[in-house]
Amino acid sequence: MKLQEYHAKRLLLAQGLPVPAYSVAESAAEARQAAQAYLHTDAGRVVIKAQVLVGGRGKAGGVKLAASADEAEQAARQILGMDIKGTTVRRVLVAPAADIAAEFYLACVLDRGARRVLLMGSAEGGVEIEVVATERPTAIKQIHAHPLLGLLDHQARRMAFALGLGGPHLREFVAIARGLYATMTANDADLVEINPLAIVREKVADGTEKQTLQCLDAKITIDDSALDRHPELEAMRDIAEEDPVDVAAREQGLSFIRLDGTIGCMVNGAGLAMTTMDLIKRAGGEPANFLDIGGGAKHDKVAAAMTLILADPHVKAILVNIFGGIARGDEVARGLVDARRVQERHVPMVVRIVGTNAQEAARILAEAGDPDLQTAATLDEAVEKAVAAATAAAVAA
Ligand code: GDP
Ligand code: MN
Repeated sequence: MKLQEYHAKRLLLAQGLPVPAYSVAESAAEARQAAQAYLHTDAGRVVIKAQVLVGGRGKAGGVKLAASADEAEQAARQILGMDIKGTTVRRVLVAPAADIAAEFYLACVLDRGARRVLLMGSAEGGVEIEVVATERPTAIKQIHAHPLLGLLDHQARRMAFALGLGGPHLREFVAIARGLYATMTANDADLVEINPLAIVREKVADGTEKQTLQCLDAKITIDDSALDRHPELEAMRDIAEEDPVDVAAREQGLSFIRLDGTIGCMVNGAGLAMTTMDLIKRAGGEPANFLDIGGGAKHDKVAAAMTLILADPHVKAILVNIFGGIARGDEVARGLVDARRVQERHVPMVVRIVGTNAQEAARILAEAGDPDLQTAATLDEAVEKAVAAATAAAVAA
């Protein structure tokens, strides 16, 4: 689950990281009010930032500076309602504008291959890191944290030197790097990214200037499987920005992942679902989704799963592969027949049900008298028929 910047910054602050003050506004008037408070401080300017779960807001015009309450209100009016990569902006973050001297990139990311947390840094911050990664990969320095002891001081210092922050900012940097690691573990995040981590100029009371490192942007993604133990993070979920299909799947307790093929899959058990997808590919087809309806799936879950599959216009055929254990074949078959009776879009379906009450299931499917519903005795046969049906539908279209 991705967090909005203002939520991510709250988690950084909780770990003691340096994040400039900010407010969240849902209207231009609210933004004006928030800006007024910050304009009284030394900053003299505020930054207004679109709060959407996509990157590159700066380039898209979703980050604007303002030097007065009027300008802030106007900037917020421009940004609110703006479309950024298909997402409508409903909130803006308002903060005192930082006077940036240099921008860096720093992130903790879960490296599943190495089974460690990876600290990634670059002196080329501010721009999209994917661009740096493809064009100048050597500009990104990577250090794995210790698997048991975490990110050690000497590792953080090594990163600091690599980024040219070995001087007056060394201590600050080490604290920030360790804070990112702490944010990651405290929240079961798989990514905590600061871009830019900036050297910011500030005026001190005696008229001199000081420079500090500050987290000006924050991106955090939480491991979905860990959300059960973080109700406070689950509450930060922004359903309005999620794919409606994902929201529906979660509500139904279905494990569903959309893919880009043409054969919709309904399977019970994650391992069987993956095997089914492998067999479809081997037979020359492409799965449209991963779907595990879970053990003991009942009638209504089957209907919900069918609706999810059919919501994808690319689906040309459906393959149902059920191994009846706790799940009863007749229950699934009844769910399938009922779902097909009410669904608006009709696509050919191939069903293979074995195990508990398989014979009863076969009888229910046969009695339905649906010419587009085929059954199969083996998985290979089912896959073959589904691929053939999808191919035929593609040719006919
Ligand atoms: P992103 O484009 O979605 O990653 O949004 P960011 O928050 O990273 O902002 C993009 C760019 O806007 C940054 O790299 C900065 O150059 C600029 N920016 C963001 N906040 C400030 C600020 O407080 N002051 C100034 N001067 N520039 C800022
Ligand atoms: Mn950024």
